[in-house]
Amino acid sequence: MHQQSQRCALVVGGAGFIGSHLVDRLLARGDRVYCVDNLLTGRVENLAQCEDHPDFTFLQADAADFEIPEPVDAVYYLASPASPRAYRRYPLETLAAGSTGVRHSLDVARRHGARFLLTSTSEVYGDPQVHPQREDYHGNVNPVGPRSMYDEAKRFAEALVTAYSATFGLQTRIARIFNTYGPRMDSEDGRVVPTFVRQALAGEPLTVAGKGEQTRSLCYVDDTVAGLLALLDSDESAPVNIGNPHEITVLELARTVLSLCGRKPDDMVFVPLPPEDPQRRCPDITRATSALSWRPTVGLEQGLRLTIAAARNG
Ligand code: NAD
Ligand code: UDP
Repeated sequence: MHQQSQRCALVVGGAGFIGSHLVDRLLARGDRVYCVDNLLTGRVENLAQCEDHPDFTFLQADAADFEIPEPVDAVYYLASPASPRAYRRYPLETLAAGSTGVRHSLDVARRHGARFLLTSTSEVYGDPQVHPQREDYHGNVNPVGPRSMYDEAKRFAEALVTAYSATFGLQTRIARIFNTYGPRMDSEDGRVVPTFVRQALAGEPLTVAGKGEQTRSLCYVDDTVAGLLALLDSDESAPVNIGNPHEITVLELARTVLSLCGRKPDDMVFVPLPPEDPQRRCPDITRATSALSWRPTVGLEQGLRLTIAAARNG
């Protein structure tokens, strides 16, 4: 028997890196949780800790084809390949996840009278010409470039969510997530933090792309998840950047990971920069701090220590 006030959340893409942490947080605060995932880039092992939880149900299904058998209050949409390696490997699946998957999940939210939160991305800004990026910057995206399947899928998804809100009065939220890292990232998905951590622990040189002068702003996953929860419960229907404004170069990141793993600070090799790799990326989080009273709390070294410890134990 469920308590009368218990909320029910649906996490589409919940077997992935961020989604599994979101599921953990929702269960910890007492929600019932459904997770829909087709396991394209996610793993059931990410959800091993909730397998026997009485309030948790996993459905292996595509985001474009599922039903939920009980009333749902909130739909968190995270389904999509997310690493450059994954979305290049699955270009059509990525475009489908941002279009038909989002549309079906919006229809589910409509039927249930649920709020809908889309996890969009800083990639909607492309290789930005404005710095740091505010939500009113419209971006610099090549629609036929090597990242277009991901960037344009997310831009389309934002447009779809906006149209559902305007047409049907659906309560919608758009989170533009900036680079997030932490335990449970796939060590083989090519993203910079799990790659550097894997290489540093294996005693291999770190593969720094280009001269390592490009920047990213890295947010620890617990902070990102807290931002998503705050956004869903807020009244903010415009897009909101969720990220950590502490901007560093890839070279600085490599040196920090090497030092935290007890390795020599210059044990790295320089590899070609991927085509159209964004040069700078840093969120302006003014909107998140004012509308959600949210800001990241985990510093880079602290977050990297937690990530490295999990990788050592995993
Ligand atoms: P992830 O690959 O670990 O998780 C994505 C999950 O979606 C996986 O479990 C995958 O199997 C599932 N999925 C993909 N297509 C699906 C479909 N059609 N139907 C059902 N499930 C499907 O990636 P992540 O890093 O956890 O990212 C989660 C979301 O956050 C993504 O939408 C991503 O675009 C967004 N995001 C992540 C970051 C980041 O730095 N991690 C940054 C910006 C945006
Ligand atoms: N990168 C790197 N070495 C690696 C993997 C990535 O130097 O082994 C760089 C990559 O070229 C980019 C940055 O790290 O400049 C972040 O890459 P990631 O794939 O994590 O995410 P992106 O922000 O590019 O989507």
